[in-house]
Amino acid sequence: MGEFELIARHFTRAAPAGSAVVLGVGDDCALLQPTPGHQLAISSDMLVEGRHFFAGADPEALGHKALAVNLSDLAAMGARPLGFTLALALPSADEAWLAPFARGLFALADAHACPLVGGDTTRGPLTISLTVFGELLPGRALRRDAARAGDELWVSGRTGEARLALALRRGEPWARGELAEVQARMDRPTPRLALGQALAATDGVRAALDVSDGLLGDLGHILKASRVGAEIETAALPVAPALLALDERHRLECLLAGGDDYELLFTADVSAHADVLTAGERAGLAVTRIGRLTTAPGLRLLDARGREQRLSERGFDHFAN
Ligand code: ADP
Ligand code: MG
Repeated sequence: MGEFELIARHFTRAAPAGSAVVLGVGDDCALLQPTPGHQLAISSDMLVEGRHFFAGADPEALGHKALAVNLSDLAAMGARPLGFTLALALPSADEAWLAPFARGLFALADAHACPLVGGDTTRGPLTISLTVFGELLPGRALRRDAARAGDELWVSGRTGEARLALALRRGEPWARGELAEVQARMDRPTPRLALGQALAATDGVRAALDVSDGLLGDLGHILKASRVGAEIETAALPVAPALLALDERHRLECLLAGGDDYELLFTADVSAHADVLTAGERAGLAVTRIGRLTTAPGLRLLDARGREQRLSERGFDHFAN
């Protein structure tokens, strides 16, 4: 199978009616027509076999995840997806890999009306690189540098399950529970697009990002960009039932430093509290206030009695993967 046949067979589909796509796969460029008055939001991610996924990973899950992590970046900015491109390096034109990969990819693309509009295909070590295009209204993007001292700190859904799944798969001695219960959180993350757009439309919501490297580490990006500090009330963190079987230390490590969560971490003015809850309801996703931002720099963890828990005792650096 040649390159053009491969593209025609696996990656060429009609764009859905009403989409921003004027011209899709097949010409020198794709043409997109954003809604008048909107800004483009653009993000790229690269997945390399052996580095970002195991050799032999399920191609359908890979197709899903490759797009999901990119859509998650759009969600974290508050953007609505318009389309994406796919650059693929493949060791060979393997039907048994391409068909399920495309299936996983397009299932998620269809679910979010985000059509594939172009790309590039070459022979090489398996590498999957996507660029997503989205749009949002000027001034509405949820930027990392927009947080202010006094803001409430929020997280969507629940963190930690993807890290538990990884530990169960690796057989780490502290891990407890059934892999089947948490595996989807690692292999098939759900981009929080509806929530991101609802938050961007909510006055008083300020900074946001998606949690890919662990809640604490990613929060650090907001703190640095916005020049603020934060307090997290560990007792307020939402805990998935699967994490209840863990000892307290490893539970907290999963919650705060697990990674691969693809939940949204965001800040909002105190006055927006009720509107944030409403945005969560509209998006069908729980949102939880887990702390606040402070003028004093740095990050503090507070226990249920408001006493500071020392970060250094907990070895989060060693835990993150
Ligand atoms: P060019 O030589 O202009 O780079 P290519 O021959 O690489 O064009 O690609 C032909 C068409 O197929 C282009 O429209 C390109 O966007 C599209 N395309 C190539 N690879 C992919 C892919 N993996 N997924 C989707 N579209 C692709
Ligand atoms: Mg090309």
